[in-house]
Order: sequence, then structure tokens, then C-alpha cells
Amino acid sequence: MFRSAEIIAVGSELLLGQICNTNAQFLSKQLAELGINVYFHTVVGDNPERLTTAIHTAKERADLLIFTGGLGPTKDDLTKETIAKVLQKNLVMDENALVNIETYFRKTNRLMSENNKKQAIVLEGSNVLANDYGMAPGMALTEKKHTYILLPGPPKELQPMFVNYGREYILSKLGVKEQIVSKVLRFFGIGESQLETDIDDLIEEQTNPTIAPLAGDQEVTLRLTAKHHSEEEAKRLIAQTEKLILARVGEYFYGYDEDTIFSVLFDKIQQSKYTLSSAESLTGGLFSERMTTFTGASSVIEGSVVCYTNDIKENVLGVSKEILDQFGAVSEECARDMADCAKKLFQTDIGVSFTGVAGPGTMDGKPVGTVYIGLALPSGETTVHHIQLVGSRDGIRQRTVKYCCHLLLNELFKSS
Ligand code: ATP
Ligand code: MG
Repeated sequence: MFRSAEIIAVGSELLLGQICNTNAQFLSKQLAELGINVYFHTVVGDNPERLTTAIHTAKERADLLIFTGGLGPTKDDLTKETIAKVLQKNLVMDENALVNIETYFRKTNRLMSENNKKQAIVLEGSNVLANDYGMAPGMALTEKKHTYILLPGPPKELQPMFVNYGREYILSKLGVKEQIVSKVLRFFGIGESQLETDIDDLIEEQTNPTIAPLAGDQEVTLRLTAKHHSEEEAKRLIAQTEKLILARVGEYFYGYDEDTIFSVLFDKIQQSKYTLSSAESLTGGLFSERMTTFTGASSVIEGSVVCYTNDIKENVLGVSKEILDQFGAVSEECARDMADCAKKLFQTDIGVSFTGVAGPGTMDGKPVGTVYIGLALPSGETTVHHIQLVGSRDGIRQRTVKYCCHLLLNELFKSS
């Protein structure tokens, strides 16, 4: 168990007031979360004698010493050299760190100079902490009663290094295992780039939990991953961030983890004790197929008419001939009547309809991807949504049924 920690920030820039010691603030918060007391913040310039004094002083009053800054390639970067001297340790080349630095230069298309190799030199016997966002690796070392952690100065490098590797080292010394909790938030109706733009600052700033966006199959997901020695606290951190995210893009959010937009809609309709029917032209039964995969479907789904021709629309479903003649099958009016007819025919609370042009050819002068979705709602109101999609025939049909779920979720459950 650590009695207390001291944070030693190295850098003349700090003493000159050119930069603010935000690393100490960040680390103090992190250590508080781990239940470790921080009794001193020290700031010392790029001077080996004064740094040596600071190390000796800190050793007297703390057993966890965390250093930030001075791990770079230049002459004034002397943190590890000074610590090596105080601890009488050798400095050795770390092969992994060297490869990381070489890769970094290759990726950024810059020429590597000889002194960059200096950054791959580490304290012998230390645990090397990978730098995923820069070049200088960090280090963690326990010598007798003291633990030393060395972190790079730039906050963008220091923060993830501490959260991903430094904490773990400290926890291992405390004999505690870190809990990793993750949660996926699912969104529909918003593109990945838009979502990322809307929460850009949160993605940038957050280190615990981390926020990882992933796009696929017309949807976007965000994976939140939190680490904490207490599982409960990790969950609380996730809930906190989730709240911030949903305050911005909540209208597109539909579910968590293994949810699908179909399962979420099905569950909500079932819980509300509504019944559902459909009239499917464009989608040829795809919506019904998706909605009947769930156990208990018979308590929700009454039936569907796959009404591909006008004849079936009129004579089986009951769509008015005037509407078909005047507006055509791919029209707002037809979608409205189809939804109303399904609701009436099957005597359900909700009737939905799909009509449109899946392609490859145009129809009645309407371009491929023209889609009308009709929603006859329990309130008695019927809404029609015109969407314009692009892509293959199959893609348009698949996306249409998902859109319908998204629209129904919004109309039925978002306003309440
Ligand atoms: P580099 O490889 O970039 O030289 P380094 O580990 O040697 O990194 P320093 O040279 O001490 O770190 O600082 C580099 C930059 O990191 C500073 O210019 C400043 O922007 C930031 N920085 C350093 N120390 C702190 C601190 N205590 N708080 C906030 N930012 C800091
Ligand atoms: Mg430097």
C-alpha cells in the first residue's frame, strides 16, 4: 500500500509560467480515484542538480513518485538520466520502443535523427510503458520501498499512457486487479462523420472511459470502455459519459450492446401491448420476416399483405382505385392508404406500409431509391415519410425496413 504520492513535474517552461501544470492536476485526480493520497506537487526546472535534490526530498515523504516531462530527445530532457544516477541504474536501449519510434517516423514521413534514438533508452529493469500517441516511452520501476513512474510531458501522450498502462502498474503493486467494463451505444439515422463531429471534443478529451466509434450496415456504434478497480465505479463512469453523449445525439440513439433496431422496436411494442400489421410492396415481406424472428411474435404481429401488384393492393388490401389511378403506387397517398388499410384489415393498433422503387429501373418516372413509408398510429393519426435512398436493390430494401423501425420508435416512444 502506498502511504502517499508526490508528482514531480520537470520543465523550466512551467517555472517561467509559459505552460500550466495540468499534468499534475490530471494525475492528482487519477490518484484520488485510486484512493492514493497526494501530499506534494513539485515543479523543478531542467536542471540535474535541482532535480536530484527534488528526488531525494520526495523519497523522504512519499513512496510513489510520478515524474512528468523531460523524456524527449533534446539536451534539456534529462529526467531519466538524473533518476538513473540517483538510483545507480544503467540506461539500456529498449528494442520495442525503438521500433515504435522508427514506425512513428515512417508514418509521419519524417527523417529520424540520431538523438531520437535516445528516446528509446530506458532505465534497466523497468517496466516500459508504451507510448501509443508519441515516441518517448514511459517507465515504471519499484526499488525497495519506492515506486517510480516516468511519463512524457505532452498531455496527449501522458494521459492515455497513464490510464492504459500506468494505473495498471500501480494497481498491481496494490494487489488489486483492474476491472474493465464496456458498453456499446447504437445509433441509426446519423452518419459516422456527423456523429463524430457532434461529439468530437468528448472523444478527444475522454480517457476513462474511452469512446471508440464504429460504422457498419447503415448504423453507427460507440463503444465506451472504462477501467477501474471497482466495477461499480467503472459503470458509473460509463453512465456519466453516456449521459453527455445522449444529450447531444440522443435522437438517433436506439439501443445498447446486442440490441438491434428490430429487437428494440419489437420489445417496446410488446411492452406497450400494441399489435402490428404491415402492407409491403417494395419490401416484399422483409419487415414481417424481421419482426417475426422474436419469440412472442404472435402476440404482436397479426399479419401482412405482400402486395406487389396494383391488383393485390386494390383487391386484397383494399387500397382505393382512385388513389392508384391518380397518384400511382409509389406515392405518399398510396403509402398512407396502404398503412390505413393494413391497420383496418388486421384490426391492429399500428399499420405500416412500404412502397417505392428498389431499382434497377425507374418506375412511373420516380427515380431508384424513392421510398414512402406509411405509419398508421394507435392515436388514429397516419404519417407518411418520404426518404430518398441510394445503393443496390437489396441495400435499399434492407435500409427501408430499418428506417421504418427508426421512424416508429421516434413517433411512438420518443415523444412520451
Ligand atoms: P517531448 O518529447 O515532446 O520533448 P518531454 O517528455 O520531453 O516531451 P517536455 O519537453 O518536458 O516533455 O514537455 C513537452 C511539452 O509537454 C511542453 O512543451 C508542454 O506543452 C507539455 N508539458 C510538459 N509538462 C507539462 C505539464 N506539467 N503540464 C502540462 N503540459 C506539460
Ligand atoms: Mg522535451
